[in-house]
Amino acid sequence: MKTRYLRYSILILILGIVTYQALGFSQHSFEAYCPFGGMEALWGLFRAGQFSCATGPLNLSMMVAVLGLAIVAKKTFCGWACPIGFLSELFSRLGSKIGLQKFEVGPKLNGALKLLRYVVLIVALFYTYKLGELVLRGFDPFYIIFSGFGHGTLGWITYTTLGVIAVGALLIPMFFCRYLCPLGATFDPFSRLGIIKIERNAELCTECGDCGSACLWAIKPMEMKKVRDRDCTNCLECVDACPVDDCLSLKASL
Ligand code: SF4
Ligand code: SF4
Ligand code: SF4
Repeated sequence: MKTRYLRYSILILILGIVTYQALGFSQHSFEAYCPFGGMEALWGLFRAGQFSCATGPLNLSMMVAVLGLAIVAKKTFCGWACPIGFLSELFSRLGSKIGLQKFEVGPKLNGALKLLRYVVLIVALFYTYKLGELVLRGFDPFYIIFSGFGHGTLGWITYTTLGVIAVGALLIPMFFCRYLCPLGATFDPFSRLGIIKIERNAELCTECGDCGSACLWAIKPMEMKKVRDRDCTNCLECVDACPVDDCLSLKASL
C-alpha cells in the first residue's frame, strides 16, 4: 500500500496540473501535454509540413520522452503519470468496492480484444494523415473530460463513448487502457524492450497467486521469471501483494 500511496500522490498531482491547465489558468493548453498528440503532430508535419490542428512541438517532445521512458521502464507512464490511466484504475477499484462482479476475460479473448487498440491507432493515424484533423477527439476520454465536452465532441456519441468506457472499467479492470487506447498501442513495441522490469525469485516463490490477483492488467508474474509483458506498468501492486519478502523485485536486465 505504501507504494500505492506514493503512486497515487504523483498521479493526483499530475491530474491537478492538467485540470489547472484545462481550466485556463496556464499559458499552455492541456492538449499540448498529450503524448499521443505528438504522434499526430508527426504525421501532420510529414504530410503537410506543419503541425496539425491543436498539436505542437510540446506534444512531440512529450512523445519522444514517453517512448524513451518505455524503453527504459516499460509502461511506467501508464502506471505513474497518465490521468486517464489513473481514472481508469479508480473506476476499476470502485467496481470491486461496490461489489460488482468482474467479467472474467480469459487469456485468449483478452489477447484478441487487445488487437482493438491497434485498430484505433491505425484509424487515428490514417484520418490525421488524410484530413490533418484530430478526428478521434470526440472519442478520446482525455480530450472529452478535460475540454469539458468542448469543440469537436459529438453530442450523444461522445456521451455514449464516455459511458461505455466508464461502465467498462467498472466491469473489466483497465477496460479502455487494455483494449482501446492508441497511445498504449504505440508504447507496445518499446515496452517489450523495457529494461527495468519485475523479476521473480523462483526459489522463494510459494506460488500463492497473490501477485496475479493484484494486477489490474491480468498479468501473472507467478508464471514468469521476468515480467516482459508489454502491458506491465511497473505499478508495483504485485510486489506489494506478494507475502514473501524479496520474491518480486524491480531490476534492470535485458
Ligand atoms: S493505456 Fe493509454 S489511457 Fe491507459 S494509462 Fe496508458 S496511455 Fe493512459
Ligand atoms: S505473490 Fe509472491 S509468492 Fe505468491 S505467487 Fe506471486 S511471486 Fe510467488
Ligand atoms: S505485473 Fe505487477 S507491476 Fe506489472 S502491471 Fe501487473 S501489478 Fe503492476
